[in-house]
Amino acid sequence: MKILKTVKEMREQIKEWRGKGLSIGLVPTMGYLHEGHASLIDASKKDNDRTVVSVFVNPMQFGPSEDLESYPRDLRHDAKIAEEHHADIIFNPEPEEMYSEGFSSFVDMTVLTEELCGLSRPVHFRGVCTVVTKLFNIVQPDRAYFGKKDAQQLAVIKHMVSDLNMNIEIIGCPIVREADGLAKSSRNTYLNKDERKAALILSQSLNHGIKLIQNGETDCSVIINAVKEKIQTEPLAKIDYVKIVDAANMQQISVIDRPALCAVAVYIGKTRLIDNFFTEDIRNGGAV
Ligand code: AMP
Repeated sequence: MKILKTVKEMREQIKEWRGKGLSIGLVPTMGYLHEGHASLIDASKKDNDRTVVSVFVNPMQFGPSEDLESYPRDLRHDAKIAEEHHADIIFNPEPEEMYSEGFSSFVDMTVLTEELCGLSRPVHFRGVCTVVTKLFNIVQPDRAYFGKKDAQQLAVIKHMVSDLNMNIEIIGCPIVREADGLAKSSRNTYLNKDERKAALILSQSLNHGIKLIQNGETDCSVIINAVKEKIQTEPLAKIDYVKIVDAANMQQISVIDRPALCAVAVYIGKTRLIDNFFTEDIRNGGAV
């Protein structure tokens, strides 16, 4: 496995593969890879001849008071995980390689970014759409792999690809969890021992919501209030949002009468964690 740092090197590699008629899968990440990222690499390996994992902590998607500086980084660890999962290339550009002086073009989206994390993190999705477009232009993959862990991001990218006629198939992959239910996340490393225990409240509260839905509840305010009440039993937890939205356009709904997403963002101490479930995924008795 090679680690490439420049757009030029990446383009040369892609040209060589394309010359041989090989298909290419892209797994965009911010690094500090864990089993969640590895599951995306595995999915790409299954579908494509070659797999590129991008490792880039994208400054553009962080707000001014967010954790850009402290975001965990460990390229050696990332290379080990990517290699174990048989990725072919890690693309790891420096910020200056991606954003040269005078950079002034952006990809932005309305509607789907108005709720959930878009509301709490106003510049986030502009940064995500811009960097993902750049990665798509550099790697020109046949398919790109995103986790349902970032459900709104997945919906936004699918929509962007459709709106802008990008010829790339977007594959959404299931959330990978710790044995006790906590969704794997690079940000879990911020949690101390007590916070790690407290963080279980995200999946536990979502499971509470799932049970209500499985028992026939369709009123979103009833489900949301039940999830909120459960989260509030944990003293270290502070709710950012608990919402139910239409899975297609990410707009709030009041009754679950169509495929929906129930999403939570919760501060555990200073660490903001997200988790969710799609109603379509829990139809057959599933839990998160
Ligand atoms: P990140 O490095 O956090 O930006 O994540 C890169 C990609 O990995 C995104 O598509 C995430 O949704 C996905 N991902 C992160 N955590 C998980 C997880 N626990 N299960 C599945 N996919 C994940």
